[in-house]
Amino acid sequence: MTDTPQFAPGFAMNKRELLSLIGKSAGAGAMLMAMAPLNQAHASTFTGPIKLDGGAKGKSVLVLGAGVAGMVAALELSRAGYEVKVLEYNPRVGGRAWTIKGGDTFTELGGATQTCEFAEGNYINPGPWRIPTEHGGLIHYCQELGVALEPFQQNNYNAYLHSTSAFGGQPQRYKTIQADYYGHVSELLAKAVNQNALNDAVTAEDAEILLESLRSWGALDSNMRYVRSAESARRRGWSKGPGGGLTAEPIPSDPLDISTVLKSGMWRNIGTHLSNEHQHAIFQPVGGMGQIAAGFDRAVGHLIRLNSKVTAISQDDSGVTVDYMDTRTEERLSARADYCICTIPLSVLAQIPLNVNAPLAAAIKAVPYRPSVKIGLEFKRRFWEQDEQIFGGITSTNLPISQISYPSYGYGSRGPGVLLGAYTGGAMSYELTGQSPAQRVQRAVDWGAQIHPQYREEFMNGISVGWHRVPWTLGCFGMWSEESRATHYRNLCEIDGRFMVAGEHASYIGGWIEGAITSSLDVIERLHQRVQAG
Ligand SMILES: Cc1cc2nc3c(=O)[nH]c(=O)nc-3n(C[C@H](O)[C@H](O)[C@H](O)COP(=O)(O)OP(=O)(O)OC[C@H]3O[C@@H](n4cnc5c(N)ncnc54)[C@H](O)[C@@H]3O)c2cc1C
Repeated sequence: MTDTPQFAPGFAMNKRELLSLIGKSAGAGAMLMAMAPLNQAHASTFTGPIKLDGGAKGKSVLVLGAGVAGMVAALELSRAGYEVKVLEYNPRVGGRAWTIKGGDTFTELGGATQTCEFAEGNYINPGPWRIPTEHGGLIHYCQELGVALEPFQQNNYNAYLHSTSAFGGQPQRYKTIQADYYGHVSELLAKAVNQNALNDAVTAEDAEILLESLRSWGALDSNMRYVRSAESARRRGWSKGPGGGLTAEPIPSDPLDISTVLKSGMWRNIGTHLSNEHQHAIFQPVGGMGQIAAGFDRAVGHLIRLNSKVTAISQDDSGVTVDYMDTRTEERLSARADYCICTIPLSVLAQIPLNVNAPLAAAIKAVPYRPSVKIGLEFKRRFWEQDEQIFGGITSTNLPISQISYPSYGYGSRGPGVLLGAYTGGAMSYELTGQSPAQRVQRAVDWGAQIHPQYREEFMNGISVGWHRVPWTLGCFGMWSEESRATHYRNLCEIDGRFMVAGEHASYIGGWIEGAITSSLDVIERLHQRVQAG
């Protein structure tokens, strides 16, 4: 349940890869929610705006980290009357909710600094980039904070599936593979029904309905065959498309045979777009994920001290003292409050001196963080739209870049365009970040050119973010295993004296902003109950 790089079609997958895949996979705002019939759409625990009644009893709270979790806590607690102060390491708010535009600079661990050269209006979201309809908490805050949303194109039937080991490395349109897979499966199933092979599983009446549905779902002909026809061409694409006048008559295309479809392994990508988080509609903030940060900044920016690196946290019976350093002046400072909500990623927190009980201390150290790299590439023109009719969506590949995602904004605009040229995880992330930023970008261009030869001619510049080298997260997001969750999750989430943890890592929606929001709401509700109880 994390936002991970699209699953790359491994094609010719061996048993080990298959087992590894299985192992890995185990894993609306008020208005939209009111519209959801019978609560079916509620995927997160968010059920509506939080109410913290009864007053703050003069209590103060220090919030560590101004990502979404920290800013939700600051917003709701200050509304309830608490005295709130937020300490944030970066010179900006938002944490991982971040957008890189032309002129922005970014320094990773090791000191390599990149300056983004994108043209005006172009951007890349190096971290979060899409908002599932199911994430009611995030959509609620977007609405409340005036963050405009627009559709994010997740699945584009006209984008490609690509494998170096299928079709001679030639990319195939997603719709072609999907239509042929559905068609052949439907034909086979219809055969089984007609040969009475499923008599034990379906009644005669249901078998009739099943056959009818297979004909419709698989675009089969009247003989229940998946063949070259107008029906199949309407889904997989025409050999020559319909037009007007004398040259109007369309010519259907030839379906791939079933063995080719199966051996290509590309069927695996059909399921990728079916998970709850990736079903349409999906949104993105107009102008990039940084707009979520900007929305919160408008509401709670006055409570946040930027450039403040927390270096030690210590609690006693009457409160919590936090030592921090001003990263511009290197001045050592400290702050004190009755309570402390810490949203610093565990990968960083585990290195900060902190006096908590042993189970919480163990939980903080128990969660490894996922490595990941995203690379944004700018080209002289939107050739993917102009030459290949791909407007938004994702091309999946077994190349190390894993995917190419086309911008879901500015369709049809002239001038330079930016796409996501790589979103990769695992060992390849380490290999990529072992190279200089310029080398990583060059490799993404070389790989991507196997799918879009225009890369070579049109490339202008690029920028890469290797999350395990981002000093303030040291990873993409926390990776719980079943075992670590069973042993440590509750201990991580329990309030320890006057100290408590929030953030995506303290949720079952890890790797999504919704996890950060629901964890934050959960902990401030418990803190408020404690304050009310005196
Ligand atoms: C590549 C990638 C893709 C993703 N895709 C999606 C997606 O499509 N949709 C989605 O909803 N989510 C996605 N996510 C997950 C999402 O970004 C996170 O779940 C969410 O932003 C976490 O919010 P947070 O407040 O818990 O943590 P953060 O945003 O990390 O906030 C923690 C804050 O603590 C600060 N901090 C760190 N150390 C210190 C210190 N010593 N002193 C003071 N402050 C400190 C940091 O600077 C940061 O501002 C993605 C993440 C990544 C990396």
